[in-house]
Amino acid sequence: MELILSKFTKRFGATTVISEMDLHVGAGEMLALLGPSGCGKSTTLFAICGIHRMDGGSLHFGDRDVTTLPAQRRSVKVVFQNYALYPHMSVSDNIAFPLRVKRHDRATITRKVGAIAELVHIGELLDRKPAQLSGGQQQRVALARAMVREPDVLLLDEPLANLDAKLRLEMRTEIRRVQRETGITAILVTHDQVEAMSMCDRIALMRAGQIEQLATPVQMYENPANQFVAGFMGNPP
Ligand code: ADP
Ligand code: MG
Repeated sequence: MELILSKFTKRFGATTVISEMDLHVGAGEMLALLGPSGCGKSTTLFAICGIHRMDGGSLHFGDRDVTTLPAQRRSVKVVFQNYALYPHMSVSDNIAFPLRVKRHDRATITRKVGAIAELVHIGELLDRKPAQLSGGQQQRVALARAMVREPDVLLLDEPLANLDAKLRLEMRTEIRRVQRETGITAILVTHDQVEAMSMCDRIALMRAGQIEQLATPVQMYENPANQFVAGFMGNPP
């Protein structure tokens, strides 16, 4: 499902942190929202998922206007860096939780949990508790829980930030694989240009609440729009 953000404006008190930002993510695309700390990545993501209301502009998922819809009616899911799994529940119950809330019947829940667990390669971990899993495995469970109700849009806020270097590499590949296999529209928020370049179809590079350039990784590296982009992408003139 394509996502169209138009003239998005966000203020905190008297300070405008995002001013009339436009962003288009194609159906099935994975887009990186990249930029230094404080540039407005999370603020944009919170507006898209409905945690924050927008002070101006509009948001569409396909031809559906979701600008004023509450988060739970948007068909969008977020995976945060602290996975926030329920510690007292098994992996299986963690993944099933969003389905139970929606009162799916037991057979449907078992089938959906099984399928998503296979997809993210945790089929053998369903009876464990979160504390009995590695960081990478916990992240897979969080991904499964986010995907189990088949949202239109998946948002990932620095999902790899808490993982060690080796796991981070592995999970880059894994998240990208799951995104490709499901064809879900996804936005990855990151401050790491290598992560953005290796995982995403296109990159929107932000600075101080503005998109400096939106392009494919290769275009952005080879034809940076300005010195900031060149410097951030590690290819200064
Ligand atoms: P990023 O995710 O890119 O690091 P954020 O979107 O979190 O940046 O923040 C963008 C700007 O908005 C920063 O200047 C930050 O201080 C400010 N900001 C974010 N959340 C709040 C808030 N709840 N109240 C006031 N200012 C905020
Ligand atoms: Mg942030």
